[in-house]
Amino acid sequence: MQPIHLYNTLSRKKEFFEPLHPPMAGMYVCGPTVYGDPHLGHARSAITFDVLYRFLRYMGYQVRYVRNITDVGHLENDADEGEDKVAKKARIERLEPMEVVQYYNNRYHDFMRMLQVLPPSIEPLASGHIIEQIEFIKEILIQGFGYEVNGSVYFDVEKYNQFHQYGKLSGRVLDDLRTNTRDLEGQSDKRNPFDFALWKKATPEHIMCWPSPWSIGFPGWHLECSAMSIKYLGETFDIHGGGMDLLFPHHECEIAQSVAAKGHETVRYWLHNNMITNNGQKMGKSLGNFITLEEMFAGTHKLLAQAYTPMTVRFFILQAHYRSTLDFSNDALQAAEKGLKRLQSAAKAVSGIAVQPSVPVSPELQKYKEEVIDALCDDLNTPIALAHLFDVVRWVNSTVDKKGAIHPDDRALLDMLLIQIPTEVLGLSDSDGHTSDVETLNGLMEMILEARAQAKERKDYAASDAIRDRLAALGISVKDTKEGVTWGRFKK
Ligand code: ZN
Repeated sequence: MQPIHLYNTLSRKKEFFEPLHPPMAGMYVCGPTVYGDPHLGHARSAITFDVLYRFLRYMGYQVRYVRNITDVGHLENDADEGEDKVAKKARIERLEPMEVVQYYNNRYHDFMRMLQVLPPSIEPLASGHIIEQIEFIKEILIQGFGYEVNGSVYFDVEKYNQFHQYGKLSGRVLDDLRTNTRDLEGQSDKRNPFDFALWKKATPEHIMCWPSPWSIGFPGWHLECSAMSIKYLGETFDIHGGGMDLLFPHHECEIAQSVAAKGHETVRYWLHNNMITNNGQKMGKSLGNFITLEEMFAGTHKLLAQAYTPMTVRFFILQAHYRSTLDFSNDALQAAEKGLKRLQSAAKAVSGIAVQPSVPVSPELQKYKEEVIDALCDDLNTPIALAHLFDVVRWVNSTVDKKGAIHPDDRALLDMLLIQIPTEVLGLSDSDGHTSDVETLNGLMEMILEARAQAKERKDYAASDAIRDRLAALGISVKDTKEGVTWGRFKK
């Protein structure tokens, strides 16, 4: 098996990847907190680890891929104060918190499916693992790295740092945290402002809470990932991934918790994907430059020149290395759209090339194949892999232009390079990713209504009425209003 190198955020260098129990590789990735619509940032993280998952499988590993869903305990501003993000949304929308969770969880899955992101092997919910989290807190308390105050339990960072190094992942030093973290002037029960909650006692208005030895309350946000990764992957497992925005405090606290409870590191390779920026600025709700996937696929955000298909978005994301920032722009997306079409049409053109055993094998294609695999083995360098796939595209196009023939081995190689690797490893399906029936129906209705409008324009009322009647026979009503034509389905 060709060696794979992955950049480990903890050691700050590329390391040879070797799973603890080959051929099985364990991978845990922090999934979304389900309180809002999935956006481009979600897509980048999901696609990054989807390609890693696909590539490891392609290279012969069996992967147990765990991606969690945070449905409780993630408080506003990622700190230990403020309202629970899910509970806040539920209060504003007048819904049960679990209705909010279910709704956004479904939305997340719908959009991930459109982006051809494979589902993980296990997708645990934080709220489904309260017992495991309580047991984890008990272990931390037994080891002396936590303390209880008024029904809440906090992690003792100062004490931990006497025995282990707090901040090793993010490069933060406790001395800096001492000077930079402000105390909330007696609002907090913490011994130190940089301590973090393992268990929070619920206030009377708090909805999502559970009994525990300390109080009726809820777990701290960081705890679920320590508890669930170890539950499903073991006390030492291979890969832990997530967005760079989770590096601190989330992953730093996760390391501290796991080391405190188990006495050793649990993760062997820490991987982080970089962010999507907009004109160099971080995308955020407050900045107004935040684009949801729904807006992206429908082209409804003011920053979008057009709608982009899920496969264009996926291709756009793969054109940057996962550890580089990726700047959003319409130009880049339009270029991605063109690039993807070129790749797909070259893949289709292959079947038209004559195959002849008498033609010599092309050494170039063999070289391209090695370059593509080398790039992916080199810390998942998708932009370089794509660049080499475009060498193959040019090779195919020139062969077609010359009306040349190819050796059967080259035909197999081309199928691998232009079909198998793009679809199986990069997840670029040859449809545009618009797989839902709703989208197909919307597209078809748009076409039909356009034909009806054209019939009306040329005063062919017989044709426009016939379209209306045939739609009615299918249970679809069409109304002409001042704002334009609307349509809807009615029960026949
Ligand atoms: Zn996490």
